Amino acid sequence: MTSFDLRRLKLRSGEEYRDEVEVELQPLEFGGQRYLPVPEKVDAEFVVNRATTGTAFRLRFPARLHGPCYRCLGDAVLEVPIRAREYQAETPEDEQMTTPYISGNNLDVSAWARDAVALALPDKILCRPDCAGLCGVCGKNLNDEPHTHAEEHGDPRWAALEALRDER
Ligand SMILES: [Zn+2]
Ligand SMILES: [Zn+2]
Repeated sequence: MTSFDLRRLKLRSGEEYRDEVEVELQPLEFGGQRYLPVPEKVDAEFVVNRATTGTAFRLRFPARLHGPCYRCLGDAVLEVPIRAREYQAETPEDEQMTTPYISGNNLDVSAWARDAVALALPDKILCRPDCAGLCGVCGKNLNDEPHTHAEEHGDPRWAALEALRDER
């Protein structure tokens, strides 16, 4: 787990702290599938800005996830550039002005990074944007073998119609 000891920050209002922190990313469950971060450890840019009213935290890193394609279950690789922000008010009146990742003097960078990656995911993770998926009839991968099953319709009259259509 990567965490940051906030006592290391000796910032006065208007000052900035910049650092590079190594973040260990965790495997992610998404749409019933498991996605692995590759590499697991990334160098993140960590920036803290102190103001009179509170402290702003920023975290930037590139994340790459490997896992199954939503449509064809083949290998998919997803690159997600992460830019996350958190804010901790000096005198927090309500929870919205505080970050859930700080407890005591500790900022839980791992948990923050994990949530930031989850929030940055698209609706569907695909091997490629135009993935054709699996055939609903025979289950073959339509990217490798584009095909239809119309000609295999049981009724011979349909087959005759298909033949006519093919001739046109
Ligand atoms: Zn696919
Ligand atoms: Zn098929």
